[in-house]
Amino acid sequence: MITTKLLMIDDEEGFVSALSKRLAMRDIEVIPAFSGQEGLAKLNEDTSIDVILLDVKMPGMDGIETLRRIKAAHPIVEVIMLTGHATWETAIEGMKLGAFDYLMKPCEIDDLITKLEAAKKRHGEHLEKILEAAGKELRDKRAR
Ligand SMILES: [Mg+2]
Repeated sequence: MITTKLLMIDDEEGFVSALSKRLAMRDIEVIPAFSGQEGLAKLNEDTSIDVILLDVKMPGMDGIETLRRIKAAHPIVEVIMLTGHATWETAIEGMKLGAFDYLMKPCEIDDLITKLEAAKKRHGEHLEKILEAAGKELRDKRAR
């Protein structure tokens, strides 16, 4: 099992705290944020965050706008959208905007963990490619 950190952006405090407790039992630490603004601020503070669970329906800045801002500032952070049945089309829109996947609320803990691990794996591969490209560029510069 992975030990990992996860930023969870959702306006339902009860849902966040219940899910946080269940994830803690699986060695996953949840950093809670109850609005898009708070989520963005926490993401800027903590560079070790690589995966985000993001609620679609929030008052003020909604999930789609939050996703746009996350992707603009942190393009390789992976985002899993959380949606109710009424807003699943918005989750699909999120996928077009670069979200990794989406989950229907209330979500099964095992589904969530499977998706988290997949998102984390993709983030790691993506990061590796970037480092590889940066290393190659450095070697090319030295060779010139
Ligand atoms: Mg909500």
